[in-house]
Amino acid sequence: SKEKSGTGYHFFESEMNNRSLESIKLENALYKALDRNELDIYYQPQIDSRTNSIIGVEALLRWIHPTEGMISPADFIPIAEDTGLIVPIGEWVLENACKQLKKWHEEGNHALSVSVNLSSRQFEENDLVEVVQRILIDVNLAPEFLHLELTENQIIKNKDLTVEMMEQLKEIGVKIAIDDFGTGYSSLGYLKNFPIDALKIDKSFIQDIREDDDSNSAITNTIITLAQNLKLNVIAEGVETKEQLDFLLSKDCYLMQGYYFSVPLKAEALKEKYLI
Ligand code: C2E
Ligand code: CA
Ligand code: CA
Ligand code: CA
Repeated sequence: SKEKSGTGYHFFESEMNNRSLESIKLENALYKALDRNELDIYYQPQIDSRTNSIIGVEALLRWIHPTEGMISPADFIPIAEDTGLIVPIGEWVLENACKQLKKWHEEGNHALSVSVNLSSRQFEENDLVEVVQRILIDVNLAPEFLHLELTENQIIKNKDLTVEMMEQLKEIGVKIAIDDFGTGYSSLGYLKNFPIDALKIDKSFIQDIREDDDSNSAITNTIITLAQNLKLNVIAEGVETKEQLDFLLSKDCYLMQGYYFSVPLKAEALKEKYLI
């Protein structure tokens, strides 16, 4: 407290000021980032490893700051969420990812889907369903090609509201996946209350799949079995090695995403490598 000896307090105070100055600077820059065209969407392929063919892409936001360079979403999404900026930014991602997908459909890649990450802040906006519907109509995209990803913890934050929103989204025809599955604090029993289509196994479990360690393989195995029993699709994320791929295939989990196949790419690069 202020009564305590001078030096300690002053040191603490200047540390605090530095930190908030940094985040205020970032926050101000983020406000302008949309208008200044500094945001971009990268796309990571989702692969059916039985046929080694692309089935979809995940849209991943990138901020190319004019002086700081590429800033990771792990660093700016939390600021965007705290300030509410995630709402207009998230809408921008939805609209542009749908436009990009429509273009790829028109070029002949008719079966491709796009997965878009949603923040719980967006779920708290009561016009989310109208926004999604308007974008689908504007872009003229069939709703089943848009897959929305929500993390387990976002879902349990406000169960009733989330179920309600999900049901409305299902009604307009979009698909819903639970992201980072297995890392949350919920029980498995809650799953049946949500109208979901797919589980994404968190990359922390996939990356721990090793021949000499059964415990993480056991978790992955359990999630796959759960998804199969509930008739949900299951996607493994963060697949980096042939060993992980082989393990997953042996458990009939064939939808995968990860550096083993590709890092997230700019739209043009993704088209060049994977599309017609
Ligand atoms: P996420 O949704 O779990 O996305 C997967 C992250 O894992 C991405 O990081 C991706 O680049 C990375 N990744 C993919 N394959 C591998 C792999 O084989 N190994 C490893 N180590 N990592 C892999 P990224 O792009 O940095 O995004 C981080 C997080 O930021 C995302 O995690 C998501 O939660 C959030 N995010 C990204 N874009 C958006 C967005 O448009 N809206 C919202 N609300 N969140 C976003
Ligand atoms: Ca995701
Ligand atoms: Ca994830
Ligand atoms: Ca994550």
